[in-house]
This record gives sequence, structure tokens and C-alpha cells, in this order.
Amino acid sequence: MARMAVLPPLEVVATERVTPRMQRVVLGGDPLRALEPVAPAAHVRLLFAEPGAPVTLPVPGPSGLTWPAGAARPYARSMTVRALDRGRGTLSIDIALHGDSAAGRWATAAHPGDPVGVVGPGGGWTPPEDAREVLLAGDETAVPAIAALLEALPCHAPVHAVVETHDGADEQELARPVRWVHRAAGGTLLAALRDRPVAASTAVWVAGEGHAVKAIREHLRLHRGLARTHCHAIRYWTRGRSHEDCDATFGAARAEAARRGITLVTTQDVHEMSYELMTGGFPIPVGPPSA
Ligand SMILES: Cc1cc2nc3c(=O)[nH]c(=O)nc-3n(C[C@H](O)[C@H](O)[C@H](O)COP(=O)(O)OP(=O)(O)OC[C@H]3O[C@@H](n4cnc5c(N)ncnc54)[C@H](O)[C@@H]3O)c2cc1C
Repeated sequence: MARMAVLPPLEVVATERVTPRMQRVVLGGDPLRALEPVAPAAHVRLLFAEPGAPVTLPVPGPSGLTWPAGAARPYARSMTVRALDRGRGTLSIDIALHGDSAAGRWATAAHPGDPVGVVGPGGGWTPPEDAREVLLAGDETAVPAIAALLEALPCHAPVHAVVETHDGADEQELARPVRWVHRAAGGTLLAALRDRPVAASTAVWVAGEGHAVKAIREHLRLHRGLARTHCHAIRYWTRGRSHEDCDATFGAARAEAARRGITLVTTQDVHEMSYELMTGGFPIPVGPPSA
């Protein structure tokens, strides 16, 4: 996996409450004008401190990012590029609010002029060329990616989206129709996906809570026979674990892969190995992306 670059410091230029539980923060700065276009669902690592505190940026080194000695490390949170306007030099991030968390505290207190660091952007998703249909699914944290994909995917293949939110207040008007499922009414993504047909030629993109993503992935791969190449399932967060805890799982996944002599090439590879460690055994073997 290519390492993402650390951008020179950026600052907050605007904020907006998109829904009761979704806060948009728009970042600005000249470094954004120099970026290459990004694929839909690309992400960044957002670096921020507690409201009002300065942000220390890391320096790229041979074995990853290092922080200046003695400096307090900022929070680092993966967030999707909801929109990148290279002409204006702005990058919009939509942050799901879920109680008193570091990202939520920062996003709701952010003001124009606040400093922020960005590592990236990187990643993004394009369906396999032979996909005849695309199915996107996720919870609130996946809405920015699904929104970007709905805007960017070509019109010739049908694109369906299923999104799980707490209730109807967090629904958004997106570029194409979405089936909204509400937890408050007992709905889940897995139940919604079980209800619908998934052909072998369907490309599925799923992101959200780790246990839910794992269950959906197993359902699609084992019970619906979907090929690995057509099932892109990524854990965006895990119940009961902070982002730092999840990062540690990825580190452990890389170490375990090295111990077994497996090369993890894509984000999907790292996630599969991390699912296996997280659950004490995953019935779909980790291997080359051929099957
Ligand atoms: C590639 C990628 C892209 C992502 N894009 C986005 C994005 O665009 N917008 C976005 O909001 N998130 C996105 N996420 C998810 C986000 O990084 C995590 O939800 C992150 O943990 C949020 O940090 P926090 O400071 O709010 O909570 P943390 O400090 O990391 O966690 C504190 C507690 O909150 C729980 N928690 C974390 N997230 C949620 C949640 N959404 N709902 C309920 N409980 C939660 C944790 O399990 C933990 O118990 C993305 C993740 C990845 C890997």
C-alpha cells in the first residue's frame, strides 16, 4: 500500500450541521489546489487537537510518520473526502456525531481559522469492469463515501444504495435514490441486504461498524457466493474500540501476515487479516485476490 503524504498545514474555513448527527467541516489551503483529482470514497487522516490547542504535524520517515520529540500527538481519524474543490482549495469532510468523542468534540467546536493537519488523500473505489450492477451499503460513517460514489459512478450500470441511520432525521438528499433503514425502528443493514437479490455480476461496496461489516461480508461471500473481487467490505469503526485501538489491530494484522509470509497489498487484504484476528478465525481464507 502506498504511503499517504502529509500535507502542509490547513485550516478550517467553514462548518455546517448537515443533519442532527452529521457535522460538515470544510478545510482550506493552497496545498489543496495542487492535489491530483481523487477517486470517489477516497479518504484522509485528519489530524486535530482538543478544541483550542495547537496541532503538531508528523514528519514522513523511512518507517512511517514520526512526531517531533516532546510534542503532544494530535488525534488521527480516518475520514472520507466528501468533496475536493481544487479550484477553490477546499476539502469537505462530513463527521458522524455519536456522543462525546474526540472527532465529534473537534467538529462541533471547529471555527474558521482553526489549524488542522491532513495525511492523504488516498484510496477510493471503482467497481470491477465486468460489474453489471453496483450495490453500496453502509451506516452514517459511510454516507460521505456513498454520497460521493452516487455522484461519480457512471450512469450506464444500475447503482443501488442502502444506508442505515439512527432514524429518519439523518437522511440526506443524495444524487440517486437510497433505501434508508432505521435502527430506531429495528432495521439493520444485514437484514436489508438479505432481502434483496445479489447476482454474481453485482459489485458490492460495504463500510460501517466492524461486526456488521463482517456479518455482511460472510453473508455475501459464503451464502450468496459473491467473489472476493466483487465484495469490497471495509470496517470503518468498531463498537467499543477507539480509532487508536483499531489502528493497533491493523498493526497486528500486518505483523501476523509477515509471520505467515503473506503479502498484504490492498486495504482489503489488511482488513481481512484484521477480521481474522478480531474474531479468532474467519472462514474465508486470506489470499491473493483471484477468487
Ligand atoms: C477509510 C475510512 C473512512 C471513514 N470516513 C468517515 C467519514 O467520512 N465520516 C465519519 O464520521 N467517519 C468516518 N470513518 C469512521 C471514523 O474514522 C470512526 O468512526 C472514528 O472512530 C471516529 O472517531 P471518534 O473520535 O468519533 O471516536 P473514537 O475516539 O475513535 O471512538 C470512541 C468510541 O466511539 C465509538 N464510535 C466510533 N465511531 C462511532 C460511530 N460512528 N457511531 C457510534 N459509535 C462510534 C467507538 O467504538 C468507541 O467506543 C471512516 C473510517 C475509515 C477507516
